[in-house]
Amino acid sequence: MSTLELTTPELIADSEETLRVCSLHAYGYCPRLFYLEEVEELYTQDAAVFAGRRLHEELEPEAEGDWLDLYLEDEILGLRGRVDALKTQQGQLVPYEHKRGRSFRDENKRPQAWESDRLQILAYCCLLEATQKVAVAEGRIRYHADNVLVHIPFDEASRLWVKETIQKARALRRSSYRPPVTANEQLCTRCSLAPVCLPEEARLSHNKEWPATRLFPQDDEREVIHVLEPGARVGRTGDQLKITRREQAEQKLSIQQVSQVALHSFSQISTQALHFLADKNVGVHFISGGGRYVGSIDPRGGSIQRRIGQYRALTQPELALTLAQKLVYCRGESQRKFLMRGQRYQEGENAELASVIAQMKAVLKQVSQAQSLGTLLGLEGNVAALYFGALPQLIGKEAPPEMRFSGRSRRPPKDRFNALLSFGYALLIKDVMNAILLVGLEPALGFYHQPRTQAPPLALDLMEVFRMPLVDMPVMASVNRGQWDVSADFEIRGAQVWLSEAGRRKLIDLYESRKSESWKHPATGYSLTYRRLFELETRLLEKEWSGEPGLFGRLILR
Ligand code: SF4
Repeated sequence: MSTLELTTPELIADSEETLRVCSLHAYGYCPRLFYLEEVEELYTQDAAVFAGRRLHEELEPEAEGDWLDLYLEDEILGLRGRVDALKTQQGQLVPYEHKRGRSFRDENKRPQAWESDRLQILAYCCLLEATQKVAVAEGRIRYHADNVLVHIPFDEASRLWVKETIQKARALRRSSYRPPVTANEQLCTRCSLAPVCLPEEARLSHNKEWPATRLFPQDDEREVIHVLEPGARVGRTGDQLKITRREQAEQKLSIQQVSQVALHSFSQISTQALHFLADKNVGVHFISGGGRYVGSIDPRGGSIQRRIGQYRALTQPELALTLAQKLVYCRGESQRKFLMRGQRYQEGENAELASVIAQMKAVLKQVSQAQSLGTLLGLEGNVAALYFGALPQLIGKEAPPEMRFSGRSRRPPKDRFNALLSFGYALLIKDVMNAILLVGLEPALGFYHQPRTQAPPLALDLMEVFRMPLVDMPVMASVNRGQWDVSADFEIRGAQVWLSEAGRRKLIDLYESRKSESWKHPATGYSLTYRRLFELETRLLEKEWSGEPGLFGRLILR
């Protein structure tokens, strides 16, 4: 393969100012795609992107004098890019673009270039003309899936079109306004950023009757690796993670199999492994031996605009109050529904439980009327006291007396049930933090919880949505199924009760298993696993201040 570097990126003084041709291609495809990539710095390295790269690597020059991998930049034009191939035909330079997919078919079924592909090859024509000072008459696009070569004439109208589009794209790059989703839904089904753009959810936000199609992946089959054993060590070997535990065979995992690494207690991780995980955007989290969430590695390099948007939105007291109302209602109503479910399994009528459920309903009615976060905190406190006061009644007759409890005790937990809840909430906050960092929001800036506690306020806010389905319900079910060994799974230290290593392992298995269950999202109407819900709900929260509100905080138990 021949490589000609006419201009290297290092020699360009002001490369920030020029626009990449692939970005112009994205703009031609959908201005919102361009904005998400260029301004919000969101990328997904999906299979199609990798496939595209391989195709480029597979190309070979067809004749002597053909050039591949040619970098061009022109500051006056405001454009830079790497053309797939350049050939000389009848004395004229012709740029080629190779596409793995199929060509567009017009109404007569004739093969044509897709509009954004046409813009891309014409941009290369402009670049060639500007940098090489030669006349260019056409560009060509080969679509490999249907083996079609499309000729694109380069004339004054197309030159003008490219230049105007560059100006529009650069203006959008300077803007703080995210464009709306495209009106052409077909584009979204093929768009690599659909899982982060969430176009169907945006349409649903504006039209409650919209039958949203799920473009968001239903599940994430990668594993969350929990390293609990003291002295265990996470390292890197090539493209794999290596986990060494005392008296156990070494475990090696491909990085593609891992979504997070959670280091409990005093397990170790090497600097090489940390760099590797950060580079691959795999979350790294720390949980203390006592089961407290300690912190996370934040590997984000971009998403500044997202955080500026979050800051602008959440410093508005009205919006913060509206979101907090949704949150308090969502958690409180789920708690009430859970007690109602428990009521159905009671022998005979339980007047006390019925009364608590009625009182909770009355308090929750006032949530939408609350005029301040202070009032809301009071209402939330009332609902929580009613809920935790009644929750012990859901423990079945068969459960051992040691697993009974008489209300919520946080740190330290005073009984086994509270020890299970506390560790479950630590696992939950880790997952919520993982989602916040993935989406690119600022964990320290919430809308309800105040920055007084150790945990980041936005994580505490979002956690409220998931407490019931992911911790309270599976913990109660496990107690009623008699899954806990009251001696081996717990450690009693005076008035404090903690989980033993075996108990923590058991709760981790219970929690991770719950995350793999699917649930039909009440707002979007499609099913997905709980482990995918963290990211979806965080993205729906971000939409609350990005012009597509109304879907966050509706995960209420049915
Ligand atoms: S998913 Fe649709 S609206 Fe969103 S960036 Fe892609 S094409 Fe545009």
